[in-house]
Amino acid sequence: MMPGWELFDENEKKQVDEVMDTGVIMRFGFDGARKGRWKAREMEHAIRKRTGAAHALLVADGTAALTVALAALGIGAGDEVITAPFTFVATFESIMAAGAIPIFAEVDETLCLSPESVREYITPRTKAVMPVHMCGAAADVDALKAICDEKGILLVEDACQAFGATYRGRAVGTIGDAGCYSFDFNKTVTCGEGGALVTNSREVYERADKYHDHGHDHSMSDRGAEGHDFPGYNYRITELHAAIGLAQIAKMDRFLAIQRENKRIFKDEFAAIDEIELRKLPDPEGDAGTFVTFFAKNEETARRMARSLKESGTEGAFHWYDNNWHYIRNWGHFKGRHFVNPAASDILGGMPDYTKRAFKSDAIMSRAVSIAIKLGWNAEEAAERAKRAANAIKHSL
Ligand SMILES: *Cc1c(COP(=O)(O)O)cnc(C)c1O
Repeated sequence: MMPGWELFDENEKKQVDEVMDTGVIMRFGFDGARKGRWKAREMEHAIRKRTGAAHALLVADGTAALTVALAALGIGAGDEVITAPFTFVATFESIMAAGAIPIFAEVDETLCLSPESVREYITPRTKAVMPVHMCGAAADVDALKAICDEKGILLVEDACQAFGATYRGRAVGTIGDAGCYSFDFNKTVTCGEGGALVTNSREVYERADKYHDHGHDHSMSDRGAEGHDFPGYNYRITELHAAIGLAQIAKMDRFLAIQRENKRIFKDEFAAIDEIELRKLPDPEGDAGTFVTFFAKNEETARRMARSLKESGTEGAFHWYDNNWHYIRNWGHFKGRHFVNPAASDILGGMPDYTKRAFKSDAIMSRAVSIAIKLGWNAEEAAERAKRAANAIKHSL
């Protein structure tokens, strides 16, 4: 998509070497052997500084961050979590991993959760709303938060694709009761694999911290003697992954500047094409710039445009409607309930039959095409690619 690995340099190596120098790859314990090196802790500090969140917990990946956040917020069996049908599959996977029921509302022209449609899906069992800040830009968080506050529902932000994006001046992920980031290999800042949850609640943080490490209360350096208030799981990150993330997060301002500038070049080029309309962003200034997205006038035109873009050599062109991983239309494995082991009866009994549901989002997703903005392009390359893409779009008309 928009990966930070494009700009790996000596710094990632140096960070990893510092870990290998002691051999302590685990993030907890081994205080004597680690020579004062705490990469995961340092990365958490960097995330707090970057986002302004009061607490940050680094975990194994973004899916783990979402799962841990839901558990730490007390969301589980029988609870409904309203989310978006345009997202990566990890969103509903994490809801199910927490034991809760994924309830899909609709997306609008922002390509994020439509606040009006969220209202339609609220029931007495709704425990949380989980908007997804798709393709590097924020959902309409104020409107969603207002609904959550009014109804006494939690707000959990899936900001896995939008680390670095802001909404009205605040980092996405920090507005709800918890927010989650992914640092997987395809994200703007990467640890290889990694994720983080942020929250302003000390209590939620402490529960998450314990839950993600088998319940360890992290009260001392002797792990064997630590206490446990409740059982947990293992969603720990390693020091090696955290080390890579540390080198990456230090370059973030540069990453964002490149993405935003390259995206501007594409947008300027596309502005002259009357037959397409750019995605509506609730806060254009906070856009991290990982994708440029536009709407064609209908499904067939969008499909033709995506094909033409691919044929022109434009990498990373997506017609999301036909994509297997990001839109519910092709999630037959999920809709058909082809689970590897029997799912909890609360989920099976409480979840609507999605094979029968008609999604209004189809009308939007069928017309949406995105092009990934690469970090590796200089301005000249971006301009050349933007021209080529614009020509391919016009050619397809
Ligand atoms: C990447 C992503 C995730 C999952 O993150 P991983 O680190 O790959 O587990 C969750 N939600 C969205 C929207 C994502 O893009």
